[in-house]
Amino acid sequence: MAEDTDILISGGGLAGLITAAVFGHAGFTVRLVDPAPPVTDAEADGSDLRSTAFLRPARDLFERIGLWDVLGPHATPLEVLEAVDTHGWPPEVVERRAFRSGDLGETPFGWNLMNWLTRREVLGFLAGQPNVTLSHGVGFAGMLQRTSGALVRLSDGTRVQARLVIGADGRASPVRQAAGIGASVTRYGQKALAFTVTHPVPHGNVSTEIYNQGGAFTLVPLPDLGGVPCSAVVWMNDGPRAVALAAMAPGALGKEASLRSCHLFGALTPASEVRVWPVVTQVADALVAERVALVAEAAHVLPPIGAQGLNTSLHDVAALLALAEAHRGDPGSASVLASYARERRRDIVVRARVIDAFNRICRSGEAPIQALRALGLRGVHDVAPVRRAVMRAGLGS
Ligand SMILES: Cc1cc2nc3c(=O)[nH]c(=O)nc-3n(C[C@H](O)[C@H](O)[C@H](O)COP(=O)(O)OP(=O)(O)OC[C@H]3O[C@@H](n4cnc5c(N)ncnc54)[C@H](O)[C@@H]3O)c2cc1C
Repeated sequence: MAEDTDILISGGGLAGLITAAVFGHAGFTVRLVDPAPPVTDAEADGSDLRSTAFLRPARDLFERIGLWDVLGPHATPLEVLEAVDTHGWPPEVVERRAFRSGDLGETPFGWNLMNWLTRREVLGFLAGQPNVTLSHGVGFAGMLQRTSGALVRLSDGTRVQARLVIGADGRASPVRQAAGIGASVTRYGQKALAFTVTHPVPHGNVSTEIYNQGGAFTLVPLPDLGGVPCSAVVWMNDGPRAVALAAMAPGALGKEASLRSCHLFGALTPASEVRVWPVVTQVADALVAERVALVAEAAHVLPPIGAQGLNTSLHDVAALLALAEAHRGDPGSASVLASYARERRRDIVVRARVIDAFNRICRSGEAPIQALRALGLRGVHDVAPVRRAVMRAGLGS
């Protein structure tokens, strides 16, 4: 006989875990499945060495359920975002503009946390939620969608009857495929390197994005490491150059990264292994199917610029939660799902288009586009209403 649950979540990445936390907190019974064991230690094989700059709306969601109590103590606030345009190699600074959170209000733009650490803390939080069942080592294998509910088949042969199946199972989403939903993908031939560095010049809670041919190089503040200032690096590059950089010994990589950062923080010393991520824009053709909602990378993948990826995912989660709470009797009904699709589709498509265009401009080595980039940075920053509007849009309004 099939087990019964309100919500079945396929995927225990950060998005899936946070989805389980918010739906569990709201009183729904939740079963989360993921074939991969969670890695919650920076040094372990396969640990996620990316960081996430959680923006204000994400913090609001975490505060609502008490999750911020465990995440907050590990977070580094981001009070200033500095955009630096450079050209040539070694890069020379052409323009530098600072966007200050004080321009919009009192609190920082966001709070940066390492992904492996967030995963550890969210798992700890979930351990205290009796209506959430986590099944690691077991995956989503298929489903039978019916008007009354979905009958999900797991990889160990178990069957689960769910009112709503949430696909949070990443770029290749098995739930999306089982629901027959396609996705449009834009490839750039770029890859992103993610690693941490220490540096002699303090970051002062400034997140710095440095543009040059190949893509953006971003330094996001972390807590000091052994008393030395530390930042998370995301370095986008054309594929072959990224692969060559990732294969370098730490000393050589540090030298290249220091040049690429124009030594704004002095000599950068790699302080972790390097992980490599393909850069794509991907948008699912639909966000819902009968009894199914897609969230996070199952629904959209964005190039890692402006901390939009997981933050956009948390807008999905918040929207779906609000609708489910308003229809407690059946959180997977056709009307809930139609409203979810209506509410999220436009934001996702617009955000994907803007980040796509921004990435193309950032990575270009062509002189006219580079001139446009510097002009655009000046224009956006120096006209106060435009600056504030762009900052608000970046935060998710
Ligand atoms: C370099 C880089 C830097 C980034 N920085 C930021 C940032 O600063 N801010 C931000 O907002 N975003 C950022 N992002 C984006 C963010 O990291 C991702 O959006 C997020 O980690 C993806 O989470 P996810 O849970 O959607 O997917 P994933 O982490 O891919 O999780 C999917 C899960 O599904 C599981 N799965 C697979 N098959 C099955 C199955 N059959 N059944 C069940 N489960 C299955 C997988 O095992 C996996 O655990 C960055 C991205 C990159 C590449």
